[in-house]
Amino acid sequence: MNYSISRRAAALSPSLTLAIDAKAKQMKADGLDVVGFGAGEPDFDTPQHIKDAAAKALADGFTKYTPSSGIPELRQAIADKFKRENGLIYKPSQIIVSCGGKHSCYNIIIATCQEGDEVIIPSPYWLSYPEMVKLASATPVILPTTDKTEFKVTPDQLRKAITPRTRLFILNSPSNPTGSVYSPDEIKALGDLCVEKGVLIMSDEIYEHLLYDGTVHKSVASLSQAHFEHTIVVHGFAKAWSMTGWRLGFLAAPEPIAKAIDAIQSHSTSNPTSFAQKGAVAALTGSQDHLKSWLAEYDKRRTFAWKKLNSISGITCVNSKGAFYLFPNISKLGLNSTEFCAKLLEKEQVAAVPGVAFGADEYIRISYATGMANIEKGLDRLDRFCKSLAP
Ligand SMILES: *Cc1c(COP(=O)(O)O)cnc(C)c1O
Repeated sequence: MNYSISRRAAALSPSLTLAIDAKAKQMKADGLDVVGFGAGEPDFDTPQHIKDAAAKALADGFTKYTPSSGIPELRQAIADKFKRENGLIYKPSQIIVSCGGKHSCYNIIIATCQEGDEVIIPSPYWLSYPEMVKLASATPVILPTTDKTEFKVTPDQLRKAITPRTRLFILNSPSNPTGSVYSPDEIKALGDLCVEKGVLIMSDEIYEHLLYDGTVHKSVASLSQAHFEHTIVVHGFAKAWSMTGWRLGFLAAPEPIAKAIDAIQSHSTSNPTSFAQKGAVAALTGSQDHLKSWLAEYDKRRTFAWKKLNSISGITCVNSKGAFYLFPNISKLGLNSTEFCAKLLEKEQVAAVPGVAFGADEYIRISYATGMANIEKGLDRLDRFCKSLAP
C-alpha cells in the first residue's frame, strides 16, 4: 500500500514546542525535577462560576447539537462584549464560536485565502499562522522584527511587503511569543495602510485583557467604519478565563466572511461542545474579579523574571507589556535556539521554547504562567547554564 500524504499535509512543519514538551514530560515521569517555562496556558484554574454553569448545563441535559456557529445566547453575549469593551457593533450573525481561538484563525484563513494569495505575518509569530496559511495553499510572507523595535513591524516594512496578491495581514497584539503590544498610534498606522491597499486584517486579540504597566489595547477594527470593514477579530476563552482545555474561541467578521465560515464549520466540526458554551456565557456575563488577582500575580512574576534575565551575563531581554511571555535574546551565547533549549533541558532540567519555532532563532520563549518558586529556581539554573557557556 502506498500511503501517500497530500502535498498540503506534507508541507507542514511538525511542532517544535510539542517535541520539547514531550521530552520535558518524559523527564518528569522519570523522576527528574524539571522546571517548565514552556507552557502556553495560564497556571490558574477556570473560575468556579464558569465551571458551575457548564456542570449545570450538563446535568440539565444540554448535551445535543447546537447551531453550528454557537448558541444564540453566547453569540449575543460576545456581541455585547465587543460593544461594551471595544465599541464594536456586530450582529450575532457576524459572530462565529469555534473550537478554540486556533480554530477561529484556521477558519478565517481557509475561508479567505487560496493558491496564489500572500499572507503577511510579522515575526516572531505565533507558530501556527504560517502552517495554516500553507494548509490553505497560500504563501506566508514573513516580516522579521527584532528586540530593537520591541518586535513591532513598521508601516514602512508593511507597505513594502504588500503586493497585488496580498490577501491578509495577521496582527497579534498583545503578542505570543514576545508579549509586545502595539500602541493605538502604531495600530492606526498599520490599519490605515491596510485600508488604503484593500488588505484584510486578521487581528488576534486573545491576550486583550492581559496588560501591564498601564498599557492599553486598541482593536484595529474600532478605528473607523473602514477599519471595521477590513478587520476580522479573533478572540477566545483560553487565556483571560483560563479555559484552554474547553476549546472555545470566537471571531467577529464582515457578514460575507462570517457566512462562509459558518458553512465551513457546518461541514467540519459542527458546533463547539454544547455545555462548554453555557460555561462561556457565564464567563462573559459573570464576575471578572478573577482577572485582577491573576494580573497582579503575572505582573509580579514578569517584573522578577525580566530583572533576573537581564542580570544574566550574555542575555538581554525587553520587558513584555502583555500576555505572559518574555522573549530574551540569547544570541551572544554562541548557540542557536534549538541547541540552547536542548542543552538547557538536558543539563539543568529547564524547559523553554526555542525562538526558531516562532521564526526567531536568536531568542527563547519563557512563559511566566508558572509559580514564583518555579520561576526563581528555573532562572537560577538558567543563570548557571549561561555561565557554563561563557568562554
Ligand atoms: C492561545 C492562543 C490562541 C488560541 O488558543 P485556543 O486554545 O485555540 O483558544 C490564539 N492565538 C494566540 C496568539 C494564542 O497564543
